Amino acid sequence: MTMLGYGIAVLLLTMLTQVGGLVLLLSLPLLNLIQLASCWQQSVLRLGVFLLVYALCVFVIVPKLASWGGRVPLLCTATADAPLRPANFGYCLLMRNYVTPDTKAHLVRVAQQFRQHYPNGTVRYLDANFPFMNGFPLLPHLSHKDGRKVDLAYFYQRKGSQESVDFSPSWHGYWFYEQPASRQKAACTGQKSWLRWDFEGLQSRYAAYEIDAERTRALLQLLVADAQKVLLEPHLQVRLGVQAANLKFQGCRAARHDDHIHAQW
Ligand SMILES: [Zn+2]
Repeated sequence: MTMLGYGIAVLLLTMLTQVGGLVLLLSLPLLNLIQLASCWQQSVLRLGVFLLVYALCVFVIVPKLASWGGRVPLLCTATADAPLRPANFGYCLLMRNYVTPDTKAHLVRVAQQFRQHYPNGTVRYLDANFPFMNGFPLLPHLSHKDGRKVDLAYFYQRKGSQESVDFSPSWHGYWFYEQPASRQKAACTGQKSWLRWDFEGLQSRYAAYEIDAERTRALLQLLVADAQKVLLEPHLQVRLGVQAANLKFQGCRAARHDDHIHAQW
């Protein structure tokens, strides 16, 4: 790879994972020891070694270092005691699952309470925070920078049969928007913001599914009772029938919140 290629890779890894770019930079002396006659064999071997070093960082080194700075990873697999897992394992691999110990305790408690209502129910999280440094935002979520913000996935069911499913129709859990019942009920009509995406072209992909309003309402009620603030689009607050002083609209200059719930402590 050229110097420019490494530079772009470091930048992308930093934006996606915070520390992945630094891991790549620190791995370079090791990677440069791999010299093979075949260019593609050398590239594959270097990539393999980098992925091993990266995995060591994700699962061993970063959790240790982050705990000294006051952040811990959310669980990557659900357990009976903590029925909480990422909507996609990629959130763990990209180290986007870090929170303060206090936030983790709150979230696990909410997940335990949810399971009391739904014995097989598992709460699924999306983007949380990076492992280090207050003030370093987890893009594109500008506020996810203090270890106290977590996005949570809705629950879904198949349309027609109303059979519950335990995954999100979109592979990362975002961008499947619940549309308001009418244009009048839509927030921010005519107000464009570079952070408020609609992804209209994607919506038909998820047509076989719909929000499981009952389970999503139950999760929302637990969050509202526990969190400092919860963000949800106004038309969904009405549809799910949950109103509270700490349940708010994020405004028009931020991402839509009718594809996920944002909670903060
Ligand atoms: Zn959020």
